[in-house]
Amino acid sequence: MGKITIAIDGYSSTGKSTLAKRLASALNYVYVDTGAMYRAVTLFALNNKYVGTNEDIPSLIKQLPNINLKFVPNKTLGLSEMYLNDENVERQIRTMEVSDHVSKVATIEEVRHMLVAMQQQMGEEKGIVMDGRDIGTVVFPNAELKIFMTASPETRATRRYKELLERGEEVTFDEVLKNVQKRDRIDSTREMSPLKKAEDAIEFDNSDMGLEEQFERIYNYSLRVINKNN
Ligand code: C5P
Repeated sequence: MGKITIAIDGYSSTGKSTLAKRLASALNYVYVDTGAMYRAVTLFALNNKYVGTNEDIPSLIKQLPNINLKFVPNKTLGLSEMYLNDENVERQIRTMEVSDHVSKVATIEEVRHMLVAMQQQMGEEKGIVMDGRDIGTVVFPNAELKIFMTASPETRATRRYKELLERGEEVTFDEVLKNVQKRDRIDSTREMSPLKKAEDAIEFDNSDMGLEEQFERIYNYSLRVINKNN
């Protein structure tokens, strides 16, 4: 059976990665979390004081060739983890500090060029489920299946808040809600590849839907699209 490309875009904390991971595993496809790539570049920028209290974007741009990003499979957990210059940064890239700066770093043209080129290479052979903000519009405009996920800001902030608490981060619900809203605003209004629904994407609002129902619906839909393309 020929494989297709599945692009999942949408606002912050709409459950894109949870759905994309499960879908990829059920279809035996590769899953790529492009947000993790923008987060790893942001961590690099914070560690080197190119963003944060100091700001030196030209130096960050100069250093981009020295950033080595890799997804390394963790067999015990059954998923891939993000490595930045050979260090496992999977936990560090999920902190509020990174979340607070990532959307700014993601507006930098040179950063987007570098990451989009890597993503296109990863998907060259299809059989991929990739999630992000510009996958259906810029990275894979010819993807056979495009999904655009939405949910109310409160639902999304509640999900993110629970996740962060489970990881032991000390945050308030209000901080999380503000972060989600701020990222949505920057992501949707930036000049280069802003977050928007591709014309041929199906919109999927999961505010009132459990994980199982979301998976069942999208999985069945994917099978129909795969059949149609074979
Ligand atoms: O998906 P996640 O919430 O981890 O993404 C973090 C941030 O990375 C987004 O808020 C956005 O600013 C940026 N991003 C992007 N394009 C992508 C994926 C993520 O600009 N394809």
